[in-house]
Amino acid sequence: MIDISKRIERLKARLIDLKEEMPEEINKVIDYFLKHMTLNYEKVLWILSLNEKGLKDKIYKVADVVNKTLNTDIITLKGVIEFSNYCKKNCYYCGIRAQNDKIKRYRIPVDEIFEIAKNGVKSGLTTIILQSGEDDYYSDEDMERLIYKIHHELKTAVSISIGERSKEAYERFRKAGASKVLLKHETINRKIFENIHPDKDYDLRIELLDYLVKLGYITGSGNIIGLPDQTLEDIAKDIIFMKEHNIKMIGIGPFISTYNTPLENLENGSAELTLNAYAATRLTIPFAQMPATTALGTIDRDYQFKALNCGCNVIMVNLTPDEYRENYNIYDEKIKVDLLGTAQKILDMGLKIPPYTLRNLFIKEA
Ligand code: SAM
Ligand code: SF4
Repeated sequence: MIDISKRIERLKARLIDLKEEMPEEINKVIDYFLKHMTLNYEKVLWILSLNEKGLKDKIYKVADVVNKTLNTDIITLKGVIEFSNYCKKNCYYCGIRAQNDKIKRYRIPVDEIFEIAKNGVKSGLTTIILQSGEDDYYSDEDMERLIYKIHHELKTAVSISIGERSKEAYERFRKAGASKVLLKHETINRKIFENIHPDKDYDLRIELLDYLVKLGYITGSGNIIGLPDQTLEDIAKDIIFMKEHNIKMIGIGPFISTYNTPLENLENGSAELTLNAYAATRLTIPFAQMPATTALGTIDRDYQFKALNCGCNVIMVNLTPDEYRENYNIYDEKIKVDLLGTAQKILDMGLKIPPYTLRNLFIKEA
């Protein structure tokens, strides 16, 4: 049993020590955090607005100390299976939107998805994320059976990232063994959301997110950095929204412009601002599972690893077989995050990976 109160005490002592080497402005953030164990909107906005390298590095250090003291220096690796690139939606930023007729569509048969999950678990992964476009080809029954089989036969956690399904469906998936859901709110600014989501499902998404929390899912959400007309204030509100709605997994990624989409000429989101958002989020929702996202890695692979020292504690590795993966182009030049290379890099950085992953990946039986 993890003794959280001991970790909090240890953290407080470390932060008090850290204040010795920090400038006045950073110490104001530390003091607020020490008092409330979270940040408010103004402090989040201040972190997001940091431009000067010296100050940014310092706030990253504070976020890192908070993460590693409360959540340890183990980086969790989760395996994503992108099982279908069919989608009925038309989000303006996304390369697999329904109206994109320039991509080759695929669906992985359910039996094959199970085999991919099985190999992922054998390689040392303890969470399998099932991700796809919004694709009704896989009925609720299909998903329910697949989730049940993966969870019970492979004895692994199942996370789902398949967009909006009915409340009843999510209830069934929960009973079948799914314990986590990812459903990003993308932006809490309704005007921006509706400008880039022709389906105008803003209220539905938020209502569904709240319902998922109520169902007992470890619920994930997140936002995109660099959407049209987005301000730092909007991003600060995204982070506060996730705190207030009990979001436990947080995926924040920069926007990446994508061929043959309505936003193809928009500039990519900023990797620097994404790191600021990670630090601000860690200090606002200290126990969150927060991946250093593939979107960040696609813009700058070094930054994806740097993020592990700025508050992030998860990396998602790709299990989708190459023949399918090359068509899961939600954005251009999407990198392949491979399990072995990523785990090795984490270890080379002096960080840890979970014991099960370490054993299965690196310690072969004689
Ligand atoms: N269809 C499901 C959904 O939208 O929730 C799950 C899959 S969707 C591809 C997963 C995430 O990809 C979205 O939540 C969105 O934030 C992200 N995404 C899609 N296109 C992107 C782009 N061009 N740049 C950055 N992120 C993007
Ligand atoms: Fe479909 Fe998700 Fe892409 Fe939107 S972001 S078009 S729902 S796959």
